[in-house]
Amino acid sequence: MPSDDAGAEASHRDRAVEALRTLVSHPTIAGEGHDPAPFAAFAKDLTDLFPALFATCKTTRIDDAFLIRWPGVSDDPPLVLMAHIDVVPPGAQQDWTHPPFALTDVDGMLYGRGTLDCKGSLVAICTAVDELIRQGVQPRRDVWLSFGSDEEVSGDTAPRAVAVLQERGVEPWFVFDEGGAVVTEAIPGLREPVALVGVTEKGLVDLDLIATGAGGHASMPPKGGATARLARAITRLEDHPAPSSLPQPARDMLARIAPRLTQPARFALTQALKTEPVLARILARIGPETAAMTRTTVAVTRLRAAPARNVLATSATASVNMRVLVGESVEQAIARVRQTINDDDIEIRAVHCDEPSAIAPIDDEAFALIEATTARVLPDAFTAPYIVMAATDARHFQRAWPRCYRFTPFRMTSAQRDSIHSVDERLARDSFLEGIRWYRDLLEHL
Ligand SMILES: [Zn+2]
Repeated sequence: MPSDDAGAEASHRDRAVEALRTLVSHPTIAGEGHDPAPFAAFAKDLTDLFPALFATCKTTRIDDAFLIRWPGVSDDPPLVLMAHIDVVPPGAQQDWTHPPFALTDVDGMLYGRGTLDCKGSLVAICTAVDELIRQGVQPRRDVWLSFGSDEEVSGDTAPRAVAVLQERGVEPWFVFDEGGAVVTEAIPGLREPVALVGVTEKGLVDLDLIATGAGGHASMPPKGGATARLARAITRLEDHPAPSSLPQPARDMLARIAPRLTQPARFALTQALKTEPVLARILARIGPETAAMTRTTVAVTRLRAAPARNVLATSATASVNMRVLVGESVEQAIARVRQTINDDDIEIRAVHCDEPSAIAPIDDEAFALIEATTARVLPDAFTAPYIVMAATDARHFQRAWPRCYRFTPFRMTSAQRDSIHSVDERLARDSFLEGIRWYRDLLEHL
């Protein structure tokens, strides 16, 4: 490589890491007690860091969110690239090895809140677009960038971005958001990294289970009070999980993984794929991660009852968080909870419901483009579809446009995946730079 190119390459790398450092430093935590200052500082720095992008593209602000249009040369249906500005709180700061809101590079690993979820991909997207613009590249079709500011609290900036696009008559070719990643160590017997591209996501239901009682002094408790009945309801839910099944994207994923496995796992999975109900039951038993792939999950996350130790509860409430399997409806999932609890005195109140998303096709040009981009930039990895377990902003887009894919082109080990929403969130510097090349390659092949 001539030295000029080498110098340019090095400065481009440094600029991208410095941009990530600047943007990670703003604690953009959405939700309760929301502080507008970090969001304002983030917005200012973002526009300063990518001058070519913001000079060429038209930006619409939706509260703290950005909706940006990079005009293409044709009227072909546009691409929408998504990421989000907000992050989850750091938790106990003393549990972090390095401060959460300062990017720390330790042996090529970049530590900081949001590096994986989702400022890393936001900066990678902006870097790729900014570089292409400075090189005089115009995309073959319009590219929209949609950066929500309240994804982690299921806020409304993403649905409002969908509304703006619909008002303007935008019909995307496909929408691309976070979700899957290039994962290693995910499956025993699989040595190659697999690029898991989410094609759908599970539904989300928040319920309150409410038991009421007469209350009174705790020294004279009656039988079957509110707390006891609530406890019985909870143990019934725990003892009777939803039936397991294998939705199409899970079958497609396993079918692509099976031939890559080492023996005897390859033989076992290939055989098991012929008998789906058995395979679903096995996956449900292996561990929580594979179980979540095969059934609607029910987690009791919060309990509230009497205001004091010596007071009988007049009301006891359990918060239940359910992730509804693709192929099931919210209504069916709630009906099963009612049936399982089998107690008419427990009120079941739906607080929040999102149906499982539509399923984006894999036998399709958009999926083929994602697969080809990955093959060019990460030749050691192969691509497989999968079901995203968590809720992402893409679900709002997928309601309008089923062709939504969820993938961040960063490599993530099992420990890194565990660091998302936890402590010591970290992204490998080389993988970050590889991710920028991935977005560039995608944009050059539209
Ligand atoms: Zn995220």
